[in-house]
Amino acid sequence: MEMARRAAEYRAAGRRIIDLTLGEPDFAPPAHAVAAAQQAAVRPMVYTPANGIPELRRAARRALQRDRALRYSDAEVAVGCGAKQVIFNAFFATLRRGDEVIIPAPYWASYPDMVRLCGAVPVIVPCSAESGFRLSPDALEAAVTERTRWVVLNAPRNPSGATYSHDALAGLAEVLRCHPSALILSDEIYAHIRYHAKDYNSIAQVAPDLRERILLVDGVSKAYAMTGWRVGWGFGPTELIRGITAVQTHNCTQTSAVSQIAAVVALQGPQDLLAERRETYRRRRDAGLAILKRSRHLDTVEPDGAFYLFPRLAVGADVAVADALLEAGCATVPGSAFGAPGHLRLSFATDIATLEEGCRIIVATLDGIS
Ligand code: PLP
Repeated sequence: MEMARRAAEYRAAGRRIIDLTLGEPDFAPPAHAVAAAQQAAVRPMVYTPANGIPELRRAARRALQRDRALRYSDAEVAVGCGAKQVIFNAFFATLRRGDEVIIPAPYWASYPDMVRLCGAVPVIVPCSAESGFRLSPDALEAAVTERTRWVVLNAPRNPSGATYSHDALAGLAEVLRCHPSALILSDEIYAHIRYHAKDYNSIAQVAPDLRERILLVDGVSKAYAMTGWRVGWGFGPTELIRGITAVQTHNCTQTSAVSQIAAVVALQGPQDLLAERRETYRRRRDAGLAILKRSRHLDTVEPDGAFYLFPRLAVGADVAVADALLEAGCATVPGSAFGAPGHLRLSFATDIATLEEGCRIIVATLDGIS
């Protein structure tokens, strides 16, 4: 957010800046979802249930069954203002002072701050580029204590784009079985943005015996390019869902009724746009990678999913390099923001020409630094 703000400031001052900081799709929301919202907005819009309108809870459950072959009952789903609020509500409902939450790094920057806001302690577990940025069962085992309340799993991961194979999740599940008081957050907000043909692996599919401890989170933000509409949901055990809904009731009642109606239509309407956009992202990923790979100062792992490149820098410190890149006309985010100093995050949720220009600036600037 800070880098995007600085990029906007430079632009306002008349500088040309390529902005690769953004974590949101540059596509329009599905036209049928927008049309449904337009029609809904002229009707009286009253408070909805805190856990979302029944139509949306049903549509989210059906979509999960369609896409990931997982079944949940109506009492096992709650809708909130984006995946973000569902995660926050879950932490707020369950964390007590001094509890620990295991967060593999690099991580989405909100997890540790949410944990701190709830008075608990983020336990960061570094996952190296050599390990494909994946949490290993040994690293998980070493991090778990009797105070561990949550283990955060996110795939495809922001910012690394890493995913977990069935076997990798089975290995983590083995460890989690030995620590029954830890809940498991499976943040699947990027599940539809994946670049290999294999089916999506969710820990809820791989380890159905852990179901009563898993909160599976998803939403319309990334898949349907509806970040600003603020609709996300979580599937989990009834008691946890009740806790999430209680927090929701007292902080903002519900997410926007109009947005909920649009989300139902996005989930139920034609789904071909997901595959089309995935192919567009893939072309962008490959175009960005092709340029970054030319630099001897960067080591870039091909991401399995999401829309970020996360190269490791062979020269300079990430914050200083991101500053130098901004001066040179390209805004990126230093890896330190994600608990992984020495890296840069570049979003490819932008058109190919812009992305290529940004990557060329990066390569040329690093040549100048070395
Ligand atoms: N989880 C991850 C890993 C994300 O990267 C983001 C957004 O950047 C979110 C959750 C939040 O999604 P939402 O817009 O549904 O709150």
